[in-house]
Amino acid sequence: MSHTSDHKEHANDLWTLRHSAAHIMAQAVRRLYPDVKLAIGPPIDDGFYYDLDLPARLTEEDLPKIEAEMAKIVDANFPFERRMISKDDALKLFRGYDEVYKIELIEGLTDGQISLYTDGDFTDLCEGPHVSSTGQLKAFKLLSVAGAYWRGDEKRQQLQRIYGTAYFGKQELDEHLTRVEEAKRRDHRKLGKELGLFSFEELAGPGVVFYHPKGATVRGVIEDYVRRVHRARRYQPVVTPHIFRTDMWKKSGHLEHYKDYMFLFEAEEQPYGIKPMNCPGHILIFNSTIRSYRDLPIRFFELGTVYRNEKSGVLHGLLRVRGFTQDDAHIFLREDQLVDEIREILDFAFEVLKTFGFDKFEVELSTRPEHYIGNLENWNHAEQALRAALEAKQIPFVVHEGGGAFYGPKIDLRIQDALGRSWQCGTVQCDFALPERFDLNYVGTDGKEHRVVMLHRALLGSFERFFGMLIEHYAGALPTWLSPVQAVVIPLNDRVLDYARAVETQLRGSDIRVEVDERNEKMQAKIRDAQRAQIPYMLVVGEREAAQQAVAVRHRREGDLGPMPVAAFVERVQQDGPQPQLVS
Ligand SMILES: [Zn+2]
Ligand SMILES: [Zn+2]
Repeated sequence: MSHTSDHKEHANDLWTLRHSAAHIMAQAVRRLYPDVKLAIGPPIDDGFYYDLDLPARLTEEDLPKIEAEMAKIVDANFPFERRMISKDDALKLFRGYDEVYKIELIEGLTDGQISLYTDGDFTDLCEGPHVSSTGQLKAFKLLSVAGAYWRGDEKRQQLQRIYGTAYFGKQELDEHLTRVEEAKRRDHRKLGKELGLFSFEELAGPGVVFYHPKGATVRGVIEDYVRRVHRARRYQPVVTPHIFRTDMWKKSGHLEHYKDYMFLFEAEEQPYGIKPMNCPGHILIFNSTIRSYRDLPIRFFELGTVYRNEKSGVLHGLLRVRGFTQDDAHIFLREDQLVDEIREILDFAFEVLKTFGFDKFEVELSTRPEHYIGNLENWNHAEQALRAALEAKQIPFVVHEGGGAFYGPKIDLRIQDALGRSWQCGTVQCDFALPERFDLNYVGTDGKEHRVVMLHRALLGSFERFFGMLIEHYAGALPTWLSPVQAVVIPLNDRVLDYARAVETQLRGSDIRVEVDERNEKMQAKIRDAQRAQIPYMLVVGEREAAQQAVAVRHRREGDLGPMPVAAFVERVQQDGPQPQLVS
């Protein structure tokens, strides 16, 4: 048996275990709160939950009590037993318990196929499957209480949801709980606030980001780097508007296929839309003049800001926002150039992501979805080209059948962070459809017009999302080249203040982001604050350093590095991060 199917079966078992844990939790709650009404309780990716209607407001302090009751049910080792009953009998049974939510669920079911599971004193409406008995649940933990609506409908009853998790072994459970704690510690929303990087402002509305000076500094460093590497790879910069007449969105197909995500408005009684994607803007530039086969590939690059009307309920910090900026490019090329170009994009993507410290990748090829534009032959050709590029580079990938965009198949790159979580970033999408819609051509060697092929691609994806991920990956301690403040000069006393300022000026002259901590605090307090702010270097200066034109260097992780001449420190900082490199 292959490794993957082993893994899958184990995951299915875990699913069953967690489903059983949800039953046992509901059973425990029922024992402790006899007036509870139960809604639904499924297993989820890393645990399970159950939604309850309970007059008493539960808090996390109630969870140990429920866990203790669950432990009794586990000790009793009740077998899970299934039986099928008629709809009438099921309704009678749950009306007897006054379980209004179960009654509503049963009313929606087909007669004769009502499945129940019983363990000891508890019976639930359930399709199963379950573990053989409650004694199988050896490692579990209840984690939190949240609000939820019956059937996810905010107009209906508000319920309380208890989240928990379960594993087969204590060690797996402990590892999971450690990961949960670590993820909380690294949460970019918490760190973003603590480190003064960004905020969301109620007055401005949800899902739009305010970069504070430190956050904007990091973003500027990333932008500078991204622009430089694109120039080196012969991309041409373009800048396109944010608002277009809806005529354009009709032509591109966005109004038909993407309308729900678009912000639409009127000006002088004309309908307009804010761009949710940069492609049509780049297309208009391409189409503004006649293009020859000699010009191809043409690579237009833009740090393009787009707006998408995501539901406020799904917004999440920097990871899911309404306004974001992509490192977006559109490449116009001949069909015979397709495989080589995709290979080059993959090289480029891996180079960039490695520069940011990521070296574990997952690659996914997504094929034609049910709802698509363009013709079948072109789709097949595009899928083959993407596949060929991956195979030529010997990159392992998985195929997501039907996962492509409506205008073409794509390759998605995911990176793995320090906690082993995977994050979507780059994408390469083939497009045979937009060139048709916009009649995009080049003049071939034969002097005749031929259709171009178009590639959409982003390497980091959304800057916002990538920034959020960087913060979590590095737990706020960004590499020196990305740190908003790279060094802080700490004068030991007022007599060396002038020297401290001279060091600052010298470092700024070498493009190092540096501050002087002139506060009237003890050195230890200044070092502690610099550590907290995740500043990579602390440069302590006293009379001795002033006399020698030196700084006593302390690194946030490595500790004391001893004194060194200012010039040597400059060199050390400049060596961190991407070095200028020649691309053939
Ligand atoms: Zn169940
Ligand atoms: Zn595009």
